[in-house]
Amino acid sequence: SLQKKLSGVFKNLSGKGKLTEKNIKDAVREVKLALLEADVHYKVVKEFVEKVKEEALGEKVLESLTPDQEFIRIVRDSLIEIMGGNKNNKINISKNPAFIMLTGLQGSGKTTTAAKLANKYKKKGRNPLLVAADTYRPAAIDQLIQLGQDIGVPVFSGDKKDAVKITEDSKKYAQRNLHDIVIIDTAGRLHIDEIMMKELEEIKNILEPEEILMVVDAMVGQDAVNSAKEFNDKLDLTGFIITKLDGDSRGGVIISIQYITNKPVKLVGVGEKIDDLEEFYPERYVGRILGMGDVLSFIEKVEKEVDKEKAEEDAERFLEGKFDLEDFLDQIRQIKSLGSLSGLIEMLPNVPKDQVDIIKGEEELKKYEAIINSMTPKERKNPKILSYSRKQRIAKGSGTTIQDINRLLKNYDQLKKTMKQMKKLKGRKLMRNFPF
Ligand code: GDP
Ligand code: MG
Repeated sequence: SLQKKLSGVFKNLSGKGKLTEKNIKDAVREVKLALLEADVHYKVVKEFVEKVKEEALGEKVLESLTPDQEFIRIVRDSLIEIMGGNKNNKINISKNPAFIMLTGLQGSGKTTTAAKLANKYKKKGRNPLLVAADTYRPAAIDQLIQLGQDIGVPVFSGDKKDAVKITEDSKKYAQRNLHDIVIIDTAGRLHIDEIMMKELEEIKNILEPEEILMVVDAMVGQDAVNSAKEFNDKLDLTGFIITKLDGDSRGGVIISIQYITNKPVKLVGVGEKIDDLEEFYPERYVGRILGMGDVLSFIEKVEKEVDKEKAEEDAERFLEGKFDLEDFLDQIRQIKSLGSLSGLIEMLPNVPKDQVDIIKGEEELKKYEAIINSMTPKERKNPKILSYSRKQRIAKGSGTTIQDINRLLKNYDQLKKTMKQMKKLKGRKLMRNFPF
C-alpha cells in the first residue's frame, strides 16, 4: 500500500541522517511507485514526482538538519496542494430551495449517497426532498423510495417515466411543500453515452442547481479519471463525492481527479450504512496517508506497554460515564511514558487541533496531581460540580491557579474524546483498511 511504502521510504531516510542526491532520487522513486500502485493516474504521478524532486533537491532540503522531515513536508504539502489546499469544501445550500444534483456512472453510489445526504440535512433540522429521476431502471426508483421511507424523507417520483419531466415537476412540488433542500438522484450507465449526458444537461438547465456533484466509486481506479473529466467537461461539475473508501480500494482517484479536473472532493462515503458519509479534509487525509505507520506502531506500543486490563477497564468505565479524574491521572501517567501523544492526535480526524493541549511536562503533571488531591472524592468522580468558589479553594490548597484547574478539566474532556475516537477507529478497522 502507499501508506506502507511511504513510511518505508521515510524510515530509510530517517536512518541516514543527512540526505544526499541519491537518497532523494531513491525516495522519489519509491513515492512514484507507491502512487502508481495506489492507482493514481500515471500522468498525475509523473508531474507530481517531477515537482517533488525539484523541490527536494533544492538547497533547503540538503542543508536542513532534519532532511527527512523536510522531505515529508514537501510530499505532504504537494499532495495537499493538488487537493486544493487546507480548506474543507462544503456543500453550498444558500438558495431556498437549494438543488443538489447527483450524477455518475451506474453503481457508483448515487442513490445511496442521495439518501445519506438527505438524512444528514434532516438531522440538522432541514426539510429535504429526494427526487427519483433515474428512469432507466424501474428498480432504481423503488430503491430510493425505500431509502426515503427508512429515514423519513419524502421521495418525489412523478410519473416515474420521464426524468426531465420529473425534475420539472419536482421543482414545483418542492416549493409548494416548503422543502428547503432538494436532492436529485439521476440515472447512470455503465459507460458514458450521449443520451445520458444530454438528459443530465437538460436537468441541469431546468434546475440550475447550486451543486452538481459526480459520485465516483473509489474502487474503479484509473478509468475514473476519464469519466470524471468527461462529466466535468459536459456539466461543469461543482465537485465530487468519492464512495467506498471503506473497502480495500486504493483510493488514488482522490488525488487524480482533483488534479485533472481542478474540482474539489466534498464528501466521502465510508460504508453502506446511512451515517457513513463524511466531510473531506485534504490535510487530514494526507496526514493520515503519511502518518499511518506511526499511528499503527503507536497503538501497538500502547497495547504492549500500557496495562491492558486496566486500559480496557478504563475504556469501559468512561463509556459508562464513570471515567473520573483519578482514572484520568492514571491514563496521562501511562501516556506520558509513551511519548508522542500529540503525534497521534494529529491523525485523529475529528479532534480540533487548537484544543489539544495534553500535558506538556513533568511540572504540569505534578500540578494536576496536586489539584486532584485537593478535591473531594465527589468532585473527582464528577468535576462538573466544581463551582467557582470551590475552584478558588482548590487552587489555594494545591498551590496552583484557576487557569491550571481549567486546563486540567479541558484536558480531561479532551482525553475522553480522544479515547472515544481511538476506540472507534480501531473498532471500524479503519486503521488497517484505510484506502491507501
Ligand atoms: P447508483 O447506481 O450510483 O445509484 O449506486 P447505488 O447507490 O445503488 O450503490 C451501489 C452499491 O454500492 C450499493 O450496494 C451500495 O450499498 C454500495 N455503496 C454505496 N456507497 C458505498 C460506500 O461508501 N461504501 C460501501 N462499502 N458501499 C457503498
Ligand atoms: Mg441509483
